[in-house]
Order: sequence, then C-alpha cells, then structure tokens
Amino acid sequence: MDDRYWNEALETRPWAEVERWQAGRIEAWLPAVRARSPMYSELLRDQPAGRPIRSLVELAELPLTTKDHVRAAQEAATDHEPFGRNQSAATSDIVQVLCSSGTTGRPLYYALTRSDCDTFADAIANTWFTAGIREADIVAHLVGLPMVAGGLPYADGFRRVGATLAWLGGFATERILTEMRRLRCSALLATTSFGQYLASQWDSVGQQTGLPSRLRTVLCGGEPGLGQPNVRERITASLDIGQLREVMGLGDVLPAMWAECDAEDGMHFNAQQYVAIELVDPATGAPQRWADGAEGEVVYTTFQRDATPMLRYRSRDHVRVIGTECRCGRSSPRIRCIGRTDDMLIYKGMNVFPSALADLILGRFDDSIAIDVEAAAATPTAEPELLGRAIEEEVRQRLQVRVAVTLVPRGTIPRSAYKNSLLAVRPREPR
Ligand SMILES: [Zn+2]
Repeated sequence: MDDRYWNEALETRPWAEVERWQAGRIEAWLPAVRARSPMYSELLRDQPAGRPIRSLVELAELPLTTKDHVRAAQEAATDHEPFGRNQSAATSDIVQVLCSSGTTGRPLYYALTRSDCDTFADAIANTWFTAGIREADIVAHLVGLPMVAGGLPYADGFRRVGATLAWLGGFATERILTEMRRLRCSALLATTSFGQYLASQWDSVGQQTGLPSRLRTVLCGGEPGLGQPNVRERITASLDIGQLREVMGLGDVLPAMWAECDAEDGMHFNAQQYVAIELVDPATGAPQRWADGAEGEVVYTTFQRDATPMLRYRSRDHVRVIGTECRCGRSSPRIRCIGRTDDMLIYKGMNVFPSALADLILGRFDDSIAIDVEAAAATPTAEPELLGRAIEEEVRQRLQVRVAVTLVPRGTIPRSAYKNSLLAVRPREPR
C-alpha cells in the first residue's frame, strides 16, 4: 500500500470523474431502495421508475430527505420492523444498531448489516488514514459509549487501519491521562475541547508518571475550534505534536467522512467509495458548485447502504469550501464546517452562525475561568479536590468552557437579600 493514500485510485481521481462514477452507482442502487424501503417508495412516488442518473445534476432532481422524514419513519416501528419504515433489510440480517446522541429530541436508530459494518470500517479507516493514523500507532479512543456513532464504528476504523486500539473512553479523566502515558499512546481521538483540556494537563501528567510523551497525532472534532489558528497553535505547542487534524462525520450517514491531510487546512472527503456529496443552498435547495470559497449545506447519498439507506439527506451542516486542489494529491474538496443551518441567523443580508461566534470568543480565552463553589457542610474534607476536578470536567463537556474550580467552605460567598448564590466567578487577577 502507498503510504500516502488508503485508496489511491479513488482519492486522486479528478473529482468530476468520481462524481460521474458515483452517479452510475446511485442509478444501479435506486431500484432496490424503492423496493425495500417503504419510506423511499413513498417519497419517490412521483418519480418515474428506472430514470437514468448520469450525473449528480440529475440526482439533484430527486427530493431531499430530512431528519423529520427519518424520525416519522422510525416512529412507525413495528415488531416486524423495529427500525420503522426505512428499514430495508430483514431484522435477521441486521447485526448492529447505532443511536444518535439524542441531544435534540428522541434518539434516532440506525441499523447495519454485516456489509454495512464493512463499509463503515473501510470509509472510517480511510478517514483516519488521511488524518495521519498508521499501523504503528497506539490510539487512545476517548468516546465513552459504544452505541453512538463515535463509539464502536470509530474503534472498528482504527483496527481496520491496523493501529492498536486503546479504548480508554469511559474511564475517569485522571485515569485516561495516566493510561495514555503508560500505554505510550502515539495518537488520540477526542472532542476539540478535550484536546484543549489535555493541552493544559499533559505536562503535569508527565511529571506524575515520570514517563515521556509519545503523542504525535491528535484528531479532534465534534465541535468548532480548530478553525481558529490560536487554538491550533496552543494545542500543538502544549502537546508538542506534529499533527493536529480536524475530523468530521454524521451519525445519520457515516460517522467519520471528513479529515484534514498534511496541509492541515480544511477537511477532505474520504468516503467517496460509498457516499456521494452535494452542496446546496439551505434556503432554496438549489445545487452549488464545489468551488473555492463556496458555501452551503452538505447533502449525502449513501449508495452502498443496506439496512437504513439515505438518499439526498440534508445534514444541516453549513460548510465553506477551503479548496478544490491540494498539494497532498487528493481530489476531494476541502471544507470547514461553519455552523448548523438550523441556527443560522440572517443579519443585514449576511449569514451569521452563533457557533462561529462562540468559537471566535472561546478561542480568545487563554486561561480557564476561575470559579468558587461552596461545598455543602457534609462534603468529606478529603474529597474537595476530586469534587472540584469532577465539576471542571462536567462544565467542560457540557459548555465547552474551561473553568478552574475552588471549593470554599459554606458561607464564604456573600449572600444578598434576593439571591443565595452558591457559586461565584472570581475576577481575573492582575498579571
Ligand atoms: Zn490534502
């Protein structure tokens, strides 16, 4: 295998040719989707059967699928079809179920046949390979739940590359950090905010364990942050790593499809063997070209998916095209995700994303925010340190903000007539 690419033939083929090849695959796949998925047989009711799909332009004439379609299909689940009206494989052929995180409503389920698992593992391995993971790596996988998109599928992807999987997610943070030194982990996959947290702790873990850092590659994603040069510089410098790579996927489609290459300037698409991508205007649905600087919502078609297929699925991810050519030789467009189209505000004719604002503001916070928290009288005196770290970790995970918690005795924080605050943000100390 060429050490630069996972799938050289497809990754370096001119993008227009890749799209033409995908159109042929979609044309061949559509009749089965219509026959096996009651949801799609209904959505495509008005489309003539056997219509040619010679290009993704012709694909764009078919209706879009939204999360509401998928949710309604799932709510029609029966004993016979536990995955609802988009279940396109017999339950006896389904070998795995994944669920969405459920942060915006009831979790959605996605089913995989043996062949779907294989597709996932290969596409995710391709994504990790682009991001710099190799056979010799020992990878700390820090997602805690096997059933979510970042759980078992990510783990399978690391093993498919041939790397050593060290699934540390689920342990307490302190143990994760210690084990990463003891296992000589050379790579790590985590949320961007965990990457920032790790950068602030890694030196002291080294002092405690007396073991040098072997970290070389850090894959981050799931949140904005790596679009900010100062965030990147801080993580790279504090961890003393050679490669900091942003990665992205979508649980409803395929959990990891995008990754930065050596150029570290926007994420390439790496699932072209199994999934086609379109860029559309989120307001009108009109197709956009993958041109430098173009913006729009990514729409996915999974033309090799048995159990729960997706045709022209609206991701709600709003992206900007960073480039359509790259010195690494890959032909797929490079993008950055700039927000969710659900959250997009239109201000004076411009698209504004709250997440992009948060990203920019948090990127400016070099220090953690100091917070005093009153401990209940019953808190054992030996544990305030642990409790403080636990609160910091919880805040970091939920709000993506780093705080430094000091537990103070009950009654320390001033009371007022109206509010009995048990928490106070300490003014920043002069430097
Ligand atoms: Zn590249």
